[in-house]
Amino acid sequence: MKDVLSFDSLKAQVAEGEVDTVLVCLVDMQGRLMGKRFHAGHFINGAYEETHCCNYLLATDLEMATPDGYASTSWESGYGDYVMKPDLSTLRPVPWLDGTVMVLCDILDHHTHEEVTHSPRAILKRQVKRLDAMGFDAKMATELEFFLFAKSFDEIRKSGFRDLEPISGYNEDYHILQTTKEEHVMRPIRNHLWNAGIPVENSKGEAETGQEELNIKYADAMDTAAYHTIAKHAVKEIAWQNGHAATFLPKWNHNKVGSSSHVHQSLWQDGKPAFFDEADELGMSKLMKSYMAGLLKYAPDYTYFMAPYINSYKRFMKGTFAPTRIIWSVDNRTAGFRLCGDGTKAIRVECRIPGSDMNPYLAMAAMLAAGIAGIEEELDLQPPTKGDVYQGETGMIPGTLREARETLRTSEMLRAAFGDDVVDHYTRAAGVEIEDFERAVTDYEIQRGFERA
Ligand code: ADP
Repeated sequence: MKDVLSFDSLKAQVAEGEVDTVLVCLVDMQGRLMGKRFHAGHFINGAYEETHCCNYLLATDLEMATPDGYASTSWESGYGDYVMKPDLSTLRPVPWLDGTVMVLCDILDHHTHEEVTHSPRAILKRQVKRLDAMGFDAKMATELEFFLFAKSFDEIRKSGFRDLEPISGYNEDYHILQTTKEEHVMRPIRNHLWNAGIPVENSKGEAETGQEELNIKYADAMDTAAYHTIAKHAVKEIAWQNGHAATFLPKWNHNKVGSSSHVHQSLWQDGKPAFFDEADELGMSKLMKSYMAGLLKYAPDYTYFMAPYINSYKRFMKGTFAPTRIIWSVDNRTAGFRLCGDGTKAIRVECRIPGSDMNPYLAMAAMLAAGIAGIEEELDLQPPTKGDVYQGETGMIPGTLREARETLRTSEMLRAAFGDDVVDHYTRAAGVEIEDFERAVTDYEIQRGFERA
């Protein structure tokens, strides 16, 4: 994410009165942008060096609660501050808001000024550094799927989330006619992101009523994670500006397909695709085979990072294009891992497990860690599976958050790659989701049992 907006250009734009607001943001555990809106004058006069935030921001949940059980912070320790250190290489315009730019921050310990190890940006940076030391760059792309609704977030909330009417009336997969009717939302999304320096490839209708897909060109892992986070944020804000709502909840209706966020990945060395080997039948290098074998071997360990909530697991259903098994196959959308671009320099692996609710920093870091482990262990790759991979009961993806929490907690690979403190932190985050859900009485239970139980 180099040179989208230099600090000198920002200063000039502030002097001209073109920019008056700087969004100073961190990426939280849920992959959301959190932070403060600075007057641009104050930002360029000094706040660009650092600002502060309460350290509960990396130990909270979707509701901004203060759950116990985190070693990093607590009521006991007084919920002190972190340093937010703007990474000026991430400065960019926010064209869908007037006079506004954005910067992403590193999160540092208030006293030591060391990076906080469980911050999502720090976690991904660490894996990128490991790859760099091995002589490789990771090129990654994340697909964003989401649903658009006819009404606004506020109207839907006021109706108790019962009035969920998708923006379209039929399955709009690849449809040009129906997606034309959504261009008042999708066109500004593509254009504003493009003008924010995010290389949008395209958007398309997806395989449900009101479902959309947004594709962004592959890039270095840190850039891809930022593109994804900002694009997801922009989709919600631009939908809101137009009186609509957008959801990235993977499964908002059990009768409809869910939303995913497939991750494409390839390693490069000295600007050349290191996954390609002309001599191989499918064009896969030995490096790619070991990397993929690592992805497959350790998929249960890192499933939590691809499916972090109770709802995430409702998506893994046969016959819905969402995977159920940890199996690879050649250009086959029923498998957890799909080989794309076989026999060409664009050869890559697409992991189809992540849901639209993943935090891209965490999911990509975990996949890189698994791939690196595969390379280090010189793992062999089993031959691809053919046909309908939904048929079969072996190599299942962990089916519940409880199962995924356990495979995360006991993962020696992730403990070695991320550190015990990081694995313990996210194991607790999974626990918070499980405990909260177990307390809830759901609509399902009321409707099923109120009269008849
Ligand atoms: P699909 O068939 O899954 O829709 P696309 O051709 O649309 O595949 O590509 C999906 C994503 O893969 C795009 O975001 C693209 O930028 C990315 N991609 C293409 N080549 C590579 C590569 N070598 N490494 C990683 N990602 C890549």
